[in-house]
Amino acid sequence: MEFANKHAIVTGAANGIGCSIAKAFLREGAIVTVIDVDKTSGEKMQNVNFFHGDIAEKSVLEKFVCSLTQPVDYLINNACIGRRGLLSGCSYEDFEYVQRVGVIAPYYLTTQLLQNKLLAPNAAIVNIASTRAFQSQPDTESYSAAKGGIVALTHAMAVSLAGLARVNSISPGWIDTAETPKHSEADKRQHPAGRIGTPADIAETVLYLCSSQAGFITGENITVDGGMSKLMVYHADYGWSLG
Ligand code: NAD
Repeated sequence: MEFANKHAIVTGAANGIGCSIAKAFLREGAIVTVIDVDKTSGEKMQNVNFFHGDIAEKSVLEKFVCSLTQPVDYLINNACIGRRGLLSGCSYEDFEYVQRVGVIAPYYLTTQLLQNKLLAPNAAIVNIASTRAFQSQPDTESYSAAKGGIVALTHAMAVSLAGLARVNSISPGWIDTAETPKHSEADKRQHPAGRIGTPADIAETVLYLCSSQAGFITGENITVDGGMSKLMVYHADYGWSLG
């Protein structure tokens, strides 16, 4: 009953992983507030306080925090997008927008909670990063930079908020958010765990990091990728070919 009547905010929870995180908190009896730019999906969510808005906008974040009626025990910075990179001419504005969603919003939301005295005692903040903070495909600079940024923001905030909140990040690997996932056997074998990840894999890790069981963990990043990023592949291994 650790989460009963505690207040969790999840950004970008109208779909995908965030939706699974919101549902996991609801299952545990928490009060859940969601902010998402997707009004249609957000308004269909049941048993959550839904706030419609783009977290890239400073004024939206300020209005959102003003709308909160109880202190926040858990802040889950989940929302992010990518707008590609160097090879497809990702513009200054596109690159900047991704950083506003993925890095500046988590920072500014935290400052607003602090200024408005809305961070509950022993709070926990979980930032959703990505294994792409540590490895890349070509043309992914906007997203990778945001994910690297949020991993570093995590340990910086953990130190600044010592005694007020624990701050950790999760780096998911390949998480299939489709309603009916379709994967090849090769897709699965690429993961030492033998399968693709599910949103629940991330949601359960979020609950763990917010729980008192994780009371000695702060400033840490946990990779949840079924071991995909640990598999070393040489040319011609497993039929993999660069030729
Ligand atoms: P998704 O696209 O399915 O859902 C993202 C949600 O965030 C949507 O509801 C969207 O409307 C919302 N959102 C996007 N921009 C927003 C904004 N500016 N303001 C408010 N809401 C906004 O994404 P997902 O796959 O569920 O990913 C969730 C998080 O997990 C992201 O941070 C993503 O980078 C990370 N992640 C996902 C994977 C994966 O394989 N799915 C892997 C690694 C990391």
